[in-house]
Amino acid sequence: MLELAGQQDGIADSPLAVRGLTVSYGEKPAVFSVDMTVRPGRMTAIIGPNGAGKSTLLKAALGILKPLSGQVRVYGEPLEAMRGRIAYVPQRASVDWDFPTRVIDVVLMGLYRDVGLLGRITGRHRAQALDCLDRVGMKDFAARQIGQLSGGQQQRVFLARALAQGADLYLLDEPFAGVDAATEKAIIDVLKGLKAEGKTVVAVHHDLATVRDYFDDVFLIATRKVAEGSVETAFTPETLQATYGGRLATAQVDQLSRALG
Ligand code: ADP
Ligand code: MG
Repeated sequence: MLELAGQQDGIADSPLAVRGLTVSYGEKPAVFSVDMTVRPGRMTAIIGPNGAGKSTLLKAALGILKPLSGQVRVYGEPLEAMRGRIAYVPQRASVDWDFPTRVIDVVLMGLYRDVGLLGRITGRHRAQALDCLDRVGMKDFAARQIGQLSGGQQQRVFLARALAQGADLYLLDEPFAGVDAATEKAIIDVLKGLKAEGKTVVAVHHDLATVRDYFDDVFLIATRKVAEGSVETAFTPETLQATYGGRLATAQVDQLSRALG
């Protein structure tokens, strides 16, 4: 009976489904009783004001944070069994960029499942890593120290690492924050390419003006879920008002009026 119920509300088919997810750092929950059902083969934007719980939701979905309560299912299974199918690109600001590592080594980290804990990195692994760097336009930078790159270039390298994992579900936290226009274009092209291969992309996204161009679905959150569904049905002035309330900054209102025509 329970399994049947799961299938009926789409958990079994969903690359990422959470139910009743509550996450708290202290007394006040950062994410409260959230249900989310990501649809396969689509690109979903997680949208909400600063502090709305977007990063927390992703981290709990990835098992980086332990929820107070709730369930996470990845392709219908508990997370532990499905880790190999998920790739994560964290928010750039959360990464220690002074760590002395070459670009190629960052990407090779994405291949660790393939290499094995005590395995040797072979020419084939290097070729795979270079191919992933090529897909994000960063092949020429393979021997550079990661700390010597621009923000946009660092973001591309972390996307290359995610590509190296060969995952089916890609979770990205503000992949376009603080990157140049060329990088934004390069990243969105790669993400659309993944979608064309049937992969699923979920990204925290802050630029309301590009939601319609880039994404199929939206998930609006302000600690609690506000709306979820296709851009056409769930990304509306009403749902945005409910998500941002009085907190929409002037710049965002400008973006919004452009985005919604
Ligand atoms: P968003 O990504 O939507 O900006 P976050 O998920 O980062 O929001 O944060 C949600 C809430 O949890 C905020 O109120 C934030 O201050 C709080 N928070 C986030 N990370 C921590 C932490 N490590 N310790 C304590 N509080 C945190
Ligand atoms: Mg965040």
